[in-house]
Amino acid sequence: MVWVSRPVLNRRLAGLGTTIFAEMSARAVATGSINLGQGFPDTDGPEAIAAAAADAIRQGRGNQYPPGPGVPELREAIAAHQQRWYGLAYDPGTEVLVTAGATEAIAAAMLALVEPGDEVIAFEPYYDSYAANIAMAGGIRVPVTLRPPRFRPDTGQLANAITGRTRLILLNSPHNPTGSVFTRDELAAIASLAVEHDLLVVADEVYEHLVFDGEHVPIARFPGMRERTVSVSSAGKTFSFTGWKIGWVTAAPELVAAVRTAKQFLTYVSGGPFQYAVAQALALPDGYFAALRDDLKAKRDLLAAGLRDIGFEVYPPAGTYFITTDIRGLGEEDGVAFCMTLPERAGVVAIPSAVFYDDKEAARTQVRFAFCKRPEVLTEAVGRLARLRQGAAR
Ligand code: PMP
Ligand code: GLN
Repeated sequence: MVWVSRPVLNRRLAGLGTTIFAEMSARAVATGSINLGQGFPDTDGPEAIAAAAADAIRQGRGNQYPPGPGVPELREAIAAHQQRWYGLAYDPGTEVLVTAGATEAIAAAMLALVEPGDEVIAFEPYYDSYAANIAMAGGIRVPVTLRPPRFRPDTGQLANAITGRTRLILLNSPHNPTGSVFTRDELAAIASLAVEHDLLVVADEVYEHLVFDGEHVPIARFPGMRERTVSVSSAGKTFSFTGWKIGWVTAAPELVAAVRTAKQFLTYVSGGPFQYAVAQALALPDGYFAALRDDLKAKRDLLAAGLRDIGFEVYPPAGTYFITTDIRGLGEEDGVAFCMTLPERAGVVAIPSAVFYDDKEAARTQVRFAFCKRPEVLTEAVGRLARLRQGAAR
């Protein structure tokens, strides 16, 4: 039906379509496949934290609009978390902002900090909302490519990508989808370029507690970075409640005020009762965080070994809950075609890594699997994928 004389979707958003995660999760449901595509755990977070959310609803805490920056209990818990894990001091009054997931934090940061025509550098592959958010802000995306097998950030290439129009670096470590965790030296090099060129950094740290090898170091800790970094995280991955959508920003007052200006006209506020529950979750003892990590590490090893056995080349992730693989060992050449037919061929859903790249060729043969699933589900998925083994009866 033609009812307007020009495309209804504006030029900034043209081509963004439906997110790959929604598309592939729908296919998993439609085909009854095991969903190793979209990253969400198949086991909910701690019962006591779920009970805290239910209690908050019943007791009438957060059922009406919470304060714009977030409930004080959560802002204090976020500040305490940054101090406890990283020795970073933030004032809960002026330097913390609660958002509708990390997604809104990143969107609001782009809308608040980027002028139309400003360049935003992001390491590709990049999480899919980055391209959309940069576009919404009228910014220009400048990718710097991470390459297999180790997906290290090339700081020489980063330096070359910086121009007089560069406004900020949108950084993600631990990195989705590659599982790369940037080292202290790499972060120091990125930080010194940011300082030298007077750039802002938006640091997406949602996988901060999912690190199996190495350590997560917030870039805000490097010299000259505290005042130019917007650190972003959320409760989704750390507490296995991805549907609650409680995220946050920590940054200097001026940066938080800027992000809040955009945020207040996106959602204003969200998730009142969940904010109280996440405040409790952030104060869980160290043992909770260690158990989460150890559990996911075992799942990583289970899926990695299974995939390797079948003939995938596996790039072992140091963090996150994703494994990037190469499918050439299976006689396959095209990750998109592979993932589109995988539900029918094997009853499993995965994500073609090319969707996370501007340079699609750089990832033509790469496929991402999520391993935040129960061990028996991973084992069943590996069993199904074994049908793809070269020479296996079809
Ligand atoms: N950043 C990255 C790198 C992610 O993988 C995700 C996905 N969960 C998000 C941000 C979004 O987080 P949230 O669900 O808290 O909005
Ligand atoms: N972060 C999740 C992933 O990378 C997806 C979240 C979403 O669908 N927005 O799989």
